[in-house]
Amino acid sequence: PSAMKEVFLETPKVHWRDIGGSHDMQAALSEVIDWPFKHSDVMEALNLTPQKGILFYGPPGCSKTLTAQAIATSSGLNFIAVKGAELTSMYVGESERAVREVFRKARAAAPSIIFFDEIDSIGSEREAGGSKGLNVLTTLLNEMDGIESLKGVLVLAATNKPDVLDPALLRPGRFDSLMYIGPPDEAARREIFRIRSRGVQLADVDIDSLARQTEGYSGAEVANICLEAGRRSARRYIRMKEEGVQFEGAPTVSQEDFEEAIGKAVKRITAEMVEGY
Ligand code: ATP
Repeated sequence: PSAMKEVFLETPKVHWRDIGGSHDMQAALSEVIDWPFKHSDVMEALNLTPQKGILFYGPPGCSKTLTAQAIATSSGLNFIAVKGAELTSMYVGESERAVREVFRKARAAAPSIIFFDEIDSIGSEREAGGSKGLNVLTTLLNEMDGIESLKGVLVLAATNKPDVLDPALLRPGRFDSLMYIGPPDEAARREIFRIRSRGVQLADVDIDSLARQTEGYSGAEVANICLEAGRRSARRYIRMKEEGVQFEGAPTVSQEDFEEAIGKAVKRITAEMVEGY
């Protein structure tokens, strides 16, 4: 029995509208995603073969995983997500079996998408010198090379460390599309604030100003700022309730709640990190 007890087929429920700043990405991906599944007649007539793999790279918390999920949701394809670290924590031989099992499941569920998160943990082992990781990588490459059988299977992967990936992964017919997903710009941050405040009453909150104040933060950090602002507001209302203070209407989040949360938020992405990609 495998340590990864079951390979889960899931249908994520992440829509493009849930991802701030995703318009460009969505447009860029349409040729890769829509063509093979919706326009295979045109592709065949022009002797075009579908792309097999797309690698998303960029700093942590900037919607690589969300993007993979939105691709699956919007295309209605079956989705199998695997974390690289899950595979490397297995016993010798188990990881290879697990990789083969993932591809087998994906073929059986085709048209489908496989998503390898943290692919660097299996895709960089040559450098680390471990023969165990190398076998996993070899298995992955072999599976991706099985062209005919891969019909209808799109392989996505994500990494924060594209520079450590084994070049064999990036050869044509493997992860031949590379897409950088960087930190959200001001317009994208505005969208994240809006997305994260859906259904919540805001009291005189200037979202434009919040977006300006969060330059350099990742999408995950902006999302967390919204969560923190909400908690700060909740504390205030719960205190009022406990003290028997009456308040009118639904609890609201204020500009001050947001700004306090921004003040406490820690930026994990540095300028050098972004320049390094
Ligand atoms: P990592 O490299 O750390 O795995 P990632 O790039 O895959 O990160 P995600 O897992 O997609 O990042 O994002 C983490 C969380 O941050 C999401 O679940 C979401 O809550 C929030 N988030 C990040 N970017 C955005 C965005 N553009 N719009 C809305 N939410 C976002």
